Amino acid sequence: MKKALGIDIGGTKILYAVLDENGNILSEIKKTKTPKTSEEIVDTLKSIIQEYDNEIDVVGLSSAGAVNLENTMVLSSTPNLPKGYNTIDFSTLSDKKVFVENDANCAVWAEYKSGAAKGFNTVLMATIGTGIGGGVVSDGRLFRGSMGNALEVGSLKIFADKRRKCTCGRYDCWESYASGTGLKNCAQEGAKEYPEFETSFLKHKKPEEITTYDITEGVEKKDEFCLKVFEQWQYYMFVGLVSLTDIFNPDCIVISGGMCEFVDTQKLEDMINAESVVTPVKVKSALTKNNAGMIGAGLLALM
Ligand SMILES: [Zn+2]
Repeated sequence: MKKALGIDIGGTKILYAVLDENGNILSEIKKTKTPKTSEEIVDTLKSIIQEYDNEIDVVGLSSAGAVNLENTMVLSSTPNLPKGYNTIDFSTLSDKKVFVENDANCAVWAEYKSGAAKGFNTVLMATIGTGIGGGVVSDGRLFRGSMGNALEVGSLKIFADKRRKCTCGRYDCWESYASGTGLKNCAQEGAKEYPEFETSFLKHKKPEEITTYDITEGVEKKDEFCLKVFEQWQYYMFVGLVSLTDIFNPDCIVISGGMCEFVDTQKLEDMINAESVVTPVKVKSALTKNNAGMIGAGLLALM
């Protein structure tokens, strides 16, 4: 069986391990801080690859940003990654095959091959964190779009009348409603509207001081205001997911990211299936979690 070195290049840390063709992790998972310059990133990656050179057949890299169609470069990088990052040709890092793919695409691939969506045909993944990322596997292939930028689901517009400004500068992106930031937005608006705020444990706070954490804490305490905000937030999540379901007709939706533990997947599944016009879908929580990028990149490199 062939082996891959899977490497996840994040904004703060680089995570890596050796995997087999089934996505099993064969080595210790190691991590190192992401260097501050693109030259240092190249040096760090070279030395990581060198360390495992005798054991592996291919290298898979997971990165934020839009990846070129040849899977060798990251064309647009995020503010978290340094200047010059978009000029690195990752294929020159080793004599072996080096394959780079967008982190959201790697994550959906990992869930499809060895995670919660194993055995399903068409998989939609939504990663709910500070923003919302997405990916689709359709009939056993990654859906990449003409330039590899498909599934920027966080930018899906869910209103047409400019209700809420998004951090990207535009209005009414799905992620300004249904991400972690979206939950905070729902809370800050709700504090001015919902009578339940008067009896909430958060009532001493100014609306603009309420955080995402306040709401998840309040949901655990069964605080009525927080429950109402949370319900609204989860409804916004449903609004995006049901549209994406009608477009892609997935048989499985996987929810991942930092906010995933708070989502009621069974409730979302029931709501989506009650309203979608396509065949029923399962909604599941991701299993590969923090290792998703690394596992997906390794498995894609082995294809
Ligand atoms: Zn936006």
